[in-house]
Amino acid sequence: MFADLHIHSIFSDSTRSPENIAVVAKNQNVSLLSVCDHGSIASYERLADACKKSGISYVIGIEMGAMMNGQDCHMLVYNFDKDNQNMLDFIRREKEKSDKECEAMIVKMSRDYPGLSLSDYLAYNYPRESGGWKYIHYAVARNVFKTYEEAGAIIRWRLTVGVSLHLPDGKRCGGKKLARI
Ligand SMILES: [Zn+2]
Repeated sequence: MFADLHIHSIFSDSTRSPENIAVVAKNQNVSLLSVCDHGSIASYERLADACKKSGISYVIGIEMGAMMNGQDCHMLVYNFDKDNQNMLDFIRREKEKSDKECEAMIVKMSRDYPGLSLSDYLAYNYPRESGGWKYIHYAVARNVFKTYEEAGAIIRWRLTVGVSLHLPDGKRCGGKKLARI
């Protein structure tokens, strides 16, 4: 028997649907799984049925941001009561915090890219089934980046280093920064 207790779905940064996760798990002889999306348990609305169809057991899970010894870290939490109000409030607060961080990032990026704005971002929707993060899809949709992967890598790099995405002559420096990543 195999178990995979750290899977992501389209409800955070993966492109796998709950149904696809169950099928792939079955094909890989995984008989116990846990989807631990970042700050979300939304996959479980569909995962329960999908696992039942594939004859797979699951344990509810989530990946949460946490601080340990002053360091940001991610914590995997399992087997909690998904209807517990304290837990649901906690998840909601995490989501609000994450949404605010993404909005702040769009505001920062709009200084380099006038084609981006917070109001445009808030009105923007992307197909949920494509997975991933809204702010990255948005930057690609507004032609700031060519692909989701390029955008993800550069935005993360920028967040870490906190510098402009432009070279002094105004050209994009994505390739160079990707190389440095
Ligand atoms: Zn993870």
